[in-house]
Amino acid sequence: MSAGLVIVTGGSRGIGAAICRRLAADGYSVAVNYASDAASAQGLAAAIAAAGGRAGAFQADVADPAAVERLFDEAVAALGPLSGLVNCAGSIGAFAPMAEQDPAAIVRLFAVNAIGTMLCCKQAALRMSTLRGGRGGAVVNISSIAARLGGLPGIAPYAATKGAVESFTKAFANEVARQSIRVNAIAPGMIDTDMTDGFLSQPGARERIEAMTPLGRLGAPEEIAEAAAWLMSPAAGFVTGTVLTASGGR
Ligand code: NAP
Repeated sequence: MSAGLVIVTGGSRGIGAAICRRLAADGYSVAVNYASDAASAQGLAAAIAAAGGRAGAFQADVADPAAVERLFDEAVAALGPLSGLVNCAGSIGAFAPMAEQDPAAIVRLFAVNAIGTMLCCKQAALRMSTLRGGRGGAVVNISSIAARLGGLPGIAPYAATKGAVESFTKAFANEVARQSIRVNAIAPGMIDTDMTDGFLSQPGARERIEAMTPLGRLGAPEEIAEAAAWLMSPAAGFVTGTVLTASGGR
């Protein structure tokens, strides 16, 4: 029997894909959301189904309110009822000093990373709140240690979007706690994915990050998926409004 549906935004690649695989293995039906990489999302959903799980791929730009509402409608119709949301969709933006940042790109970054998280939480509250006929559930927002450390040089707007995600996580958790919805965030350190490829391919970059990380290495997407699966599960039933740091000690 399914443990219920979890929608994973940005589920097609990287950390989100690892979370989709892990939640499917835990018995959840999984909606793999993507923005443009349909092949990766559909391939992942097919692989989950081939392994005996339940999954579907759903396109939506999380910065678009109408697209987000359609995502939730379509996912619930195909795989419902909803019992969880993982907000993983995100972009790091341009690496540039503030003086050279493009204003439109800053606005877009906030629209995806911060406002996208809020738009999805709105739709989740509408469907999971016990005050609105839902059966409760859990939300996991993917932040970053950049929210507190400032991040790599040149990504101040990205760090600020994640600060917004953490403030929102606490406020939303307070708001829906008595509606049987728990809300937490994970702040990963540097994880080996497409997002960090460009930076890590610069000479010496990987070694510099390893040297500043107490555990002496980068993280794997599966290690973040493990934390997400725990926060999603009933084992974390008394945990809400918190940020779990998974950064190798940074
Ligand atoms: P990634 O490999 O680049 O994957 C990004 C995912 O987000 C893809 O599935 C992408 O969809 C989706 N996405 C991007 N913009 C979207 C939009 N507007 N609407 C819907 N989906 C969108 O990135 P990642 O490294 O796994 O990062 C995932 C999350 O972890 C992000 O929130 C990131 O900020 C956070 N994080 C990452 C690290 C790290 O070191 N990698 C560290 C801390 C936090 P498509 O496949 O369609 O492009």
